[in-house]
Amino acid sequence: MAADYKVIVAGGSVSGLFAARELAAAGISVAVLEEDHEIGTPEHCGGLVSMNGIRNLGMVPDAGVLQNTVKRARVFSKSHDFELDAQKQQIVVIDRRAFDKQIAFQAQRMGADIKVRCAMRSVSKGSGRYAVSTTEGELVCDYFVDARGVASIIHRNRTGILQSAQYELYAPWIEHDTVKVMFDSEKYPGFFAWIIPTADGCGKVGVAGRSINAARSLQSFISSMGSRYSVTRKIYAPIWIMGPLESFVDGRTVIVGDAAGQTKPTTAGGIYSCGMGGIFAGKSIASAIERKDDAELRRYQQEWSLLFREEFQKMLLARRLLERLDNKAIDEMFSAIPSDKLGEVSAVGDFDFHSIALTKLLGTRTAVRVAKAILGNEIRRLID
Ligand SMILES: Cc1cc2nc3c(=O)[nH]c(=O)nc-3n(C[C@H](O)[C@H](O)[C@H](O)COP(=O)(O)OP(=O)(O)OC[C@H]3O[C@@H](n4cnc5c(N)ncnc54)[C@H](O)[C@@H]3O)c2cc1C
Repeated sequence: MAADYKVIVAGGSVSGLFAARELAAAGISVAVLEEDHEIGTPEHCGGLVSMNGIRNLGMVPDAGVLQNTVKRARVFSKSHDFELDAQKQQIVVIDRRAFDKQIAFQAQRMGADIKVRCAMRSVSKGSGRYAVSTTEGELVCDYFVDARGVASIIHRNRTGILQSAQYELYAPWIEHDTVKVMFDSEKYPGFFAWIIPTADGCGKVGVAGRSINAARSLQSFISSMGSRYSVTRKIYAPIWIMGPLESFVDGRTVIVGDAAGQTKPTTAGGIYSCGMGGIFAGKSIASAIERKDDAELRRYQQEWSLLFREEFQKMLLARRLLERLDNKAIDEMFSAIPSDKLGEVSAVGDFDFHSIALTKLLGTRTAVRVAKAILGNEIRRLID
């Protein structure tokens, strides 16, 4: 006989695990299916997140989770750069392999079943319940949570995908407390290159961009930084930059995290926004079960939208701007940023809601002129 759960979650990463944790905490039988052989592996993440975000996710990171604290961010165009003080925002670098395992442990202690090397093959509905076919056999459930990441959303719109590559490196040019971001519209169209330190001389270095060969671009970026380095790990992963789906809920199927497009359209950061998606989804499914009323499922999308919708709309506009700026325009905007603005941004910026910083940085007369030429009057929605 097929094993029976109230809820099955396909995907054992941040969004699926947080959903499972909330469900199990409410006493609901839930299984998480993870196709890989280990939770948190392969890690396809820079691990950059704010302590505030981690706290809001209900986590006190274990010692092995925190890799580094970031003091500053340096942002480069071809001929200019500026620096932001990141200390007030308490930005840290986490080890996603350890972080995801910590969430899995929380969920398991609450009563969730975590199954690794167990891929969901198909889901079908018959007699009001879901039949979930997996590589480990058949399961049945009343509610199904799709937390399968970009793999689940990719077929919806291929133009919403950028290719990324990220390597873990030992290199003397990696400064232990400085994140670096490099814009170059020719090399990384619509995105950037990044260096995220995990220690002095050690970190995660990546690139993403539209229609680029990410592996080749990253190799050339790393070589341009200096000849002495060793690569200890390579990952290639698509990132979704089109923002959230219209609807996160279809009957009793609930979509969370990257699978629902809950990643920031500008930076593809998703630990916080996808994690919160999982939490809101888990709570609303638990409430629907408890009250025997599926209308409760709608609360998930309402709560996520209340927190992130406005921010994501601004980020989508910022993305449209970024996709059309050439290197000359980026240089012009960077050179126009007065130093007092940088202090202001460092003081009031919020890592989880970039639009606050962006609004300030784009508020100079030169930036408004350049952005207005591209966005027209929509620029007001970005900087007002
Ligand atoms: C290169 C890169 C760097 C990034 N850096 C950052 C960063 O610094 N900060 C930040 O906040 N975000 C970052 N992100 C984004 C962040 O990693 C994601 O937004 C986040 O992991 C999304 O979590 P998720 O649970 O929705 O999906 P995912 O983490 O993609 O997890 C989906 C899970 O589902 C599993 N799965 C897929 N199909 C099946 C199936 N059929 N059956 C069972 N399991 C299945 C997968 O194996 C995977 O474990 C980065 C992303 C990339 C690609």
